[in-house]
Amino acid sequence: VDAHAEELLLGLNDQQRAAVVHPGGPLLVIAGAGSGKTRVLTHRVAWLVRTGQASLGEILAVTFTNKAAAELRERVGTLLGRSTRGLWVSTFHSACARIMRVEAERLGYTRQFTIYDADDAKRLVKRVLESQGADTRRFTPNAVAGRISEHKNRLRSVEQAAEQAAGFYDRTIVDAYRGYQAQLVANNAMDFDDLLGRTVDVLERYPEVRERYRNAFRHVLVDEYQDTNPAQYRLLQLLCMDDPMHLAPRDAGAEAHGADPDGFGPLAGEEPGHRNLMVVGDDAQSIYGFRSADIRNILDFEQDFPDAEVIRLEQNYRSTQRILDTANAVIANNRDQRPKRLWTDQGTGDPVRVRALPDDHVESRWVVGEIERLAGEGVPLGQMAVLYRTNGLSRLVETALTQADLAYQVIGGVRFFDRAEVKDALAYLQWLLNPANTVAFARIVNRPRRGIGDTTVGRLLAHAEALGVTPLQVIDEPAAAGLKTAAVRSVGRFAEQAAELRATMEAGATVADLLEAILKVTGYRAELEASSDPLDEGRVENLDQLHAFAQEFDAEDAAAYPDEERATLRPLDRFLQSTALLSDADQAEEAATGRVTLMTLHNAKGLEYDAVFLVGCEDGIFPHSRAIDAGELEEERRLCYVGLTRARKHLALTWARRRALYGPPQPQVPSRFLRELPVESLDEQSPEALSGAVQPTPRPRFERDAPGARSGGIGSIARGRGTGAGRSLADLGLRRGSEIGSAGRAAAADAEAAPTFSVGARVRHGKFGEGDVVAADDEVIVVHFDDHGERRLIAGFARLEAV
Ligand code: ATP
Ligand code: MG
Repeated sequence: VDAHAEELLLGLNDQQRAAVVHPGGPLLVIAGAGSGKTRVLTHRVAWLVRTGQASLGEILAVTFTNKAAAELRERVGTLLGRSTRGLWVSTFHSACARIMRVEAERLGYTRQFTIYDADDAKRLVKRVLESQGADTRRFTPNAVAGRISEHKNRLRSVEQAAEQAAGFYDRTIVDAYRGYQAQLVANNAMDFDDLLGRTVDVLERYPEVRERYRNAFRHVLVDEYQDTNPAQYRLLQLLCMDDPMHLAPRDAGAEAHGADPDGFGPLAGEEPGHRNLMVVGDDAQSIYGFRSADIRNILDFEQDFPDAEVIRLEQNYRSTQRILDTANAVIANNRDQRPKRLWTDQGTGDPVRVRALPDDHVESRWVVGEIERLAGEGVPLGQMAVLYRTNGLSRLVETALTQADLAYQVIGGVRFFDRAEVKDALAYLQWLLNPANTVAFARIVNRPRRGIGDTTVGRLLAHAEALGVTPLQVIDEPAAAGLKTAAVRSVGRFAEQAAELRATMEAGATVADLLEAILKVTGYRAELEASSDPLDEGRVENLDQLHAFAQEFDAEDAAAYPDEERATLRPLDRFLQSTALLSDADQAEEAATGRVTLMTLHNAKGLEYDAVFLVGCEDGIFPHSRAIDAGELEEERRLCYVGLTRARKHLALTWARRRALYGPPQPQVPSRFLRELPVESLDEQSPEALSGAVQPTPRPRFERDAPGARSGGIGSIARGRGTGAGRSLADLGLRRGSEIGSAGRAAAADAEAAPTFSVGARVRHGKFGEGDVVAADDEVIVVHFDDHGERRLIAGFARLEAV
């Protein structure tokens, strides 16, 4: 091994090195969070290339998000000091989409097939349910789409699903599955699950295809292996293992699947698999069971590969000891896990903080106050994250960040590519490329409004289906579909526009030019520009952004495929594919620097931040009530472990005694996970925040010293703190509620030092100007400002003056 290659091992510990230089064959790296699994995978890719064991084109590295893929590619490029062209590093979905672009014709699709995102899939499911006369209140498209997806992730064909169906509910789902699948094929479209499932199909049915990809990828490496589902596992078998056709897929319900119903058998004398499969993961971070990820894939790896080398990494390089202890203590409550020892030399670090806040507004402000404090200490905003169980929890934090004038990004909100106008533009492109796509057709045929109503659309689609042709063919002769004269004319105009756009496409326009043509020819842009609705201005901006994105794409694509004949078809295909496959977590790509990141725990996987705030730690929210009801606490606890282990140096968990999530504020109890935190790692204010047995209601301030205030018996912790200017908001939040003991009363008395205002008082605020106090209690003052409307301010912190 030359010295150049040896460099790749510098700065790795012994176990990490062993994984990087592993001679070949199955390898499992199983280790806790932050132990360098992803780093090892990256170095191994570079090592394989540098030592000449594989060329870039012979390696397939699979990551969980496109963002992670981009990072991995960049890291490998840096390590190798050269371009990584040819290296396959992508998500399972992207890799399969690439394979299907080449192989789809074998399965009866054209190469221009459309990828349906979750929203498209739901629309199609809805249409199918309606056409089958199902009760869509009982069988919501959302739930049915989820059940269909589960069947697909477990590689259950419609027939297999039918065999297992017991009862009316299951049979309705199976009927929907059958109808939906037929529609997908008729639309020349695949949903995300199909990308995987059809790739498995093509590899199973065509020995020569299987052979080709088995030879193409001499080394397969998978990050976040704990979250692979049975379809993904099957794909790995097909690519790497000996005699994959004799290995049953994992799902018990799919035994028959590998048996090759169509009579395509294993290739006589099929080459043994290269078995160069490296998977890295952490069973404690398996959080996608609801998407059929199968934790057994990792727990049974050694059983599937008896000669697999198993490497455990035990040093954590990410977090301080206290953060690590906290995470370990929580996960230790799970029965179903491999015990792991993790240590760190990052030092003890700051205590982990738990805070109970009187309500969700105060909680958000506390978090933002802490963010400001840390920023003041030099922690970059881009190194801070606020995590939560469900998206609904981000709103107040966003508001508080906005009021504090801090830059932030929300991952997993409405994605750019999901905005209505952007989806419209993309649907035009999709339909031009693939005229069989009825979902896209139905979306755009009356956008902008052309006087083509739902009835007309229904007739056109039914007519196309009856004739077995595409909507494009039908609109050329609308009268034949039995439309009224007015509708015939409207559809005729649309057909003319479509013809013009198709001509533009066929003439070889760039994606950006085609997009521009669509917005112009259809009058889409003109309509928005003529509108007085301020929202439409934003929509025009989004379309401009999409156009800029397309221009960028065109330039990159032309550079990547310089020899290709410049027809629109292929670039357009690649463009649509790249926009379709972006996941929520990929949004972190845009502006990760300089902004606080807000996202769900699920999206935080694999990432790390100097400071992490986990908000909404309340039973029913986290753990989620659905998981509590279903007895699926272990997965929720793993999710908690994922969240805690994102933090490098600062970690805080908060809960609110009252929260308005769906409707009026409701009393909350602290998350049971909070009680699993080790007291030794927490700061001295935390223990009282853990006791949420009593549900105090914040009372108006004048009641504070009313007789009968309960003694909390927590005085020893609180006494002597919470005085003076350095008093934290937590003191106010925690001790100024009504559940205050002697210490609480003392703190409350301190608060007297701050000016107090009664309802009706006229006040002035440094930023918001003058206003009237409309409500006030111990924690919160609500002021109606003349110029800024109603604001909730934190008593004692709101720098208000009497006017
Ligand atoms: P997760 O389970 O969260 O995905 P992981 O095991 O993949 O974590 P990495 O993200 O690879 O861990 O590494 C965590 C951090 O530790 C990264 O910042 C990485 O650069 C750093 N790190 C890993 N190994 C070493 C090492 N040997 N020396 C210094 N830093 C390291
Ligand atoms: Mg990782």
